[in-house]
Amino acid sequence: MKWDAWGDPALAKELSADIKGLLAAALGVTGDATPGPAADEVLLHPSRITADDLKALAAAVGETNVSAADADRLPRAGGKSTPDLLRRRSRAPQDAPDAVVLPGDEQEIAAVLALCAERRIAVVPFGGGTSVVGGLDPERGGLTAVISLDLRRLDRLHDLDETSGEAVLGAGLTGPAAEALLAERGYELGHYPQSFRYATLGGFAATRSSGQDSAGHGRFDEMVRGLRVVTPAGVLDLGRAPASAAGPDLRELFLGSEGTLGVITAVRLRVHPLPAVKAYEAWSLPDFATGSAALRAVEQAGTGPTVIRLSDEAETMVNLAMTEQIGGAPAVTGCLAVTVFEGTAEQVATRHRLTRDTLLAAGATSLGEAPARAWEHGRFSAPYLRDSLLSAGALCETLETAASWSRLPRLRTAVTEALTTALPGALVLCHVSHVYPTGASLYFTVVAALGEDPLARWAAAKRAAGDAIVTAGGTITHHHAVGADHRPWMSDEIGELGVRILRAVKAELDPAGILNPGKLIP
Ligand SMILES: Cc1cc2nc3c(=O)[nH]c(=O)nc-3n(C[C@H](O)[C@H](O)[C@H](O)COP(=O)(O)OP(=O)(O)OC[C@H]3O[C@@H](n4cnc5c(N)ncnc54)[C@H](O)[C@@H]3O)c2cc1C
Repeated sequence: MKWDAWGDPALAKELSADIKGLLAAALGVTGDATPGPAADEVLLHPSRITADDLKALAAAVGETNVSAADADRLPRAGGKSTPDLLRRRSRAPQDAPDAVVLPGDEQEIAAVLALCAERRIAVVPFGGGTSVVGGLDPERGGLTAVISLDLRRLDRLHDLDETSGEAVLGAGLTGPAAEALLAERGYELGHYPQSFRYATLGGFAATRSSGQDSAGHGRFDEMVRGLRVVTPAGVLDLGRAPASAAGPDLRELFLGSEGTLGVITAVRLRVHPLPAVKAYEAWSLPDFATGSAALRAVEQAGTGPTVIRLSDEAETMVNLAMTEQIGGAPAVTGCLAVTVFEGTAEQVATRHRLTRDTLLAAGATSLGEAPARAWEHGRFSAPYLRDSLLSAGALCETLETAASWSRLPRLRTAVTEALTTALPGALVLCHVSHVYPTGASLYFTVVAALGEDPLARWAAAKRAAGDAIVTAGGTITHHHAVGADHRPWMSDEIGELGVRILRAVKAELDPAGILNPGKLIP
């Protein structure tokens, strides 16, 4: 993973002359952003960890698994939001964890937490480093230092129970590594967020991630049958049976806990056999309202597509320009919807037919397979485009929310207005990313000129959008999680009493307050 951009440097995308022309005409962006520093030119604030702390950490996890070198601190300085990337590109001194620690098992994690509590050192659990909400900000929270607890060594398939359809996997496995281990045995998890190639199972659980196949395989939190968590107060092994009436489900406390209550070390997940057949079909809908009503009809009828998503008119237009860049798909007018079906040949045929009938009845026109295949082909590539846009002088960032179907139109209008008021002239794209019987999530992409102070410009737009979301009855986050960035809205989300409950749980599990200060809990 690049330290100042997304993903694999070899996959970086050049902007076409057409797109550059569009940026200049629509946003006045002329493609002359100042290049950022090289990794060895970045100025980090000096590490505050003491030699004695390093010695104690090395005794817990082994000398080769502890480092206070700038080359190790820099890649863990934060996540991958646009503000993170803008900060990385800055020549001003930057904050970073004071040391990086890579434990190999639960005993080592427990030992690290104990000595950090004793020495008043904050701990930021680090999975794949793909947080887009400031979840990895190296905050010390008034303590003496902060370490990044990198969990990549927890990378094993511990168990596969084929009878029950469950697998126990290490929290540090990335999406592709977990899928490769399961595929060797003919199984799949089917969790494909856009960050799939780099994010980890522990990160998925800690943030309640949502994949693009969520209409078929569910959100990640729904796949978690059990989990193991190491907290400063002890170890928890949660989730005994597929369902239970033994009081409140404590798994729920740790799903979405974002490293503030404990370190997730392993997850027991529902898995399914690799699909025998896949089918694709794309659709054109005359407008967004007709399109979302069509998706609602499919979801409420339960016809069973694995993927179903809908782009608004603006996003459809931009997708089209991008698809033409990679070649192949026919022209689309109105709003593009994509459906994908998986299962046995018989299941796919039935699910496809029922979905097709429902969509046609709701006003959709079939575009055939090509645009749906093109979407799947390019689905992990979009983040590379953000880097090219930033380099060309355009700010590009995303935000997401969800609400019931009846509130969705008002929510979309309110967020779009908030963003375009805060960033006049900005291009705001939107799609329905996940559907549920009672509602859906909306995912917005904003492209604007970087301007003089892009961090301040985006902070103002984000504040306006967050307030609009809350007022319009949406959730402050459907899948990106809370981190530092959404924390100001947590009391709107769960109420003051809800916040006090979370604080009480934290005080019990983490009395010294070492775990991920400044995130999630106000
Ligand atoms: C380009 C891009 C696309 C994205 N697309 C999606 C998407 O489609 N769907 C989606 O849901 N999200 C998406 N995200 C957001 C992000 O990838 C998810 O939040 C992901 O689940 C984070 O996983 P990670 O392993 O990278 O965790 P990290 O970013 O390393 O950590 C995220 C948070 O979880 C905590 N944490 C990590 N591991 C553990 C652990 N084992 N125990 C306790 N706490 C832990 C961290 O302290 C931090 O607070 C995207 C991000 C980017 C940059």
